[in-house]
Formats: sequence, C-alpha cells, structure tokens
Amino acid sequence: TGFKHDYAKIKKLDSGKFGKVYLCEDSVSHEQFAVKRLKKEMFKDTKNLRQLYNEVSILRKLKHPNIIKLFKIYEDNATISLVLEYVPYGNLLSRIQKRIKFTPKEVMTFSKKLFETLRYLHSQGIIHKDLKPENILIASSISDCEFKLCDFGLACYVDKSLRSKSGSPGYIAPEILRGNSYSTKADIFSAGVIIYILTSGIPPFYSKKSEKVMKKNKDCKFSFSKNEFKGISPLSIQFINELLNPDPAFRPTAEQVLQHSWIHLACCSES
Ligand code: ADP
Ligand code: MG
Ligand code: MG
Repeated sequence: TGFKHDYAKIKKLDSGKFGKVYLCEDSVSHEQFAVKRLKKEMFKDTKNLRQLYNEVSILRKLKHPNIIKLFKIYEDNATISLVLEYVPYGNLLSRIQKRIKFTPKEVMTFSKKLFETLRYLHSQGIIHKDLKPENILIASSISDCEFKLCDFGLACYVDKSLRSKSGSPGYIAPEILRGNSYSTKADIFSAGVIIYILTSGIPPFYSKKSEKVMKKNKDCKFSFSKNEFKGISPLSIQFINELLNPDPAFRPTAEQVLQHSWIHLACCSES
C-alpha cells in the first residue's frame, strides 16, 4: 500500500512555498482530508530538510481543538505527504481580502481563542514563528470565529537555540529581525499584528515596497490611524499597543493576555 492506493486526489486547495495542498478522499471510508505534499528537492540543503522533519514531529506532538490534526504521514524518495484534518472554509487572509468586516465582538471572541491556543502551544515549549492570516484556517461557515492553526514549518522549541531569522514580513517580531534572542513572546507580537488588521482592516506595517515593510516592521513603526480606528475603544487600542511592544520583555505572555480586562469583555459583551 501507499498514498496513491489509500487516497484519491479530488482537487488542489492551495500551494504554499514548498509544496501543494490537495483535497483527498480516503478510498475506503470516503472521508475527506487535506494532504500537504512536500517535495524533498525543495529542501535540498540539510538544514531545510531538518526543518521539514521538524514540522512533522512538532505537529505530531500537538493536541488541541484549534490546532490542525495530523493523521498520517507517507514518505517516499521524493516526497513527504502529511494527511491533515480538512478545514473547508479557506484561510483568514481570503476572508480579510473579501473585506468581510469583523465586529468588535468577533475580534474579541477570535482573540480569546487564539491566545488560549498560544497558551497551550507555549506550555509545550513551542514557538509557532509564522502566525499570519494564511496560516489560520476558517473552520465554520457561520461567523463564530472557529479556526484551526496550521503550518508549523517554521515552528521551533524554546530551549533549542535555533537562531534562524525566519518569519513573514509584516508579522515577524522585531527582536528576530534584529538578530536578538527570541522566545514565545515572538508569537504574541504576530498575534498583535493579526488583531490590529482584524480591528482596522489595514496592516500596521505597510508599504508597496517589501523592503520598506521590513524596515517599518524591524523599527516597529506603526500608528493607530484616526480613520481606520474610528469608534474603536481606547481599551482595545491600549491592548493592541501592548501586544506590539517592540521590547519582548514588556509584551504580555498568552497567560497574562487571558487575564487582561479587554479579553474578559469577550465573554460578556453584547455589541
Ligand atoms: P506552506 O508552509 O507552504 O505555507 P501551509 O501549511 O501554510 O503551507 O498550507 C498552504 C495553504 O494551504 C494554507 O494557507 C491553506 O490555504 C491551505 N491549507 C493548508 N492546510 C489545510 C487544511 N488542513 N485544510 C484546508 N486547507 C489547508
Ligand atoms: Mg503557510
Ligand atoms: Mg510553512
């Protein structure tokens, strides 16, 4: 038996940097899965190949309702296939691009779940390192903010000093860009960028030129424009500002965020 025997390919869902993601069906049960196929030739140097196995081993370890489930792995000389839980409503980036506005209540509900997920991840000693809307999959057709976090391709353990400067421009924590040591606080920064975008509809570090995005991101230069943040409560703005603190020492942990009064509004706000 092999992958081709066990599954039928239905369609391509998306392509990432190193491989493609397909919707597949189990030949026997007809259950649907998302399969991330990674071509080993894309990971030629040994450092990258190690990173590839890292994604598999980290994902294998994790068990949380808001983290994508890995069911099975197939490997041959050329490819590695990750059989993943299929999340059918696209990713958060496509939702943002459709400009379906998030209400303040939705932003709060989403944020609470995101920080609960990060609290779990960080308690396992793992940093995701690539939090961004493409890597957050929408798990429900109604807007109840159900999501699954995916793509542990850059994830690493806190205690291993993997000093790679990897991440995504516009989302990466400034201490990583500056070549300093980093911790789970790096994920808090990226979560802050996501919440800034959901709240205002615009990214905090923006320019048409990608080098300029990097520069603003590294210098942590952003503001709360009057127009886009019109009607947003001062508490929300203060909260986002704390998440985007350029100094990780002053950024809250996921646990501290969950104690924040802004998050507590998520449980009782009616608006
Ligand atoms: P890469 O490491 O190349 O960025 P990802 O794991 O992020 O790969 O997957 C790329 C894209 O494929 C995601 O942004 C998402 O749109 C889609 N995708 C990934 N996993 C799933 C899944 N389990 N269900 C549905 N779509 C998925
Ligand atoms: Mg990705
Ligand atoms: Mg990846």
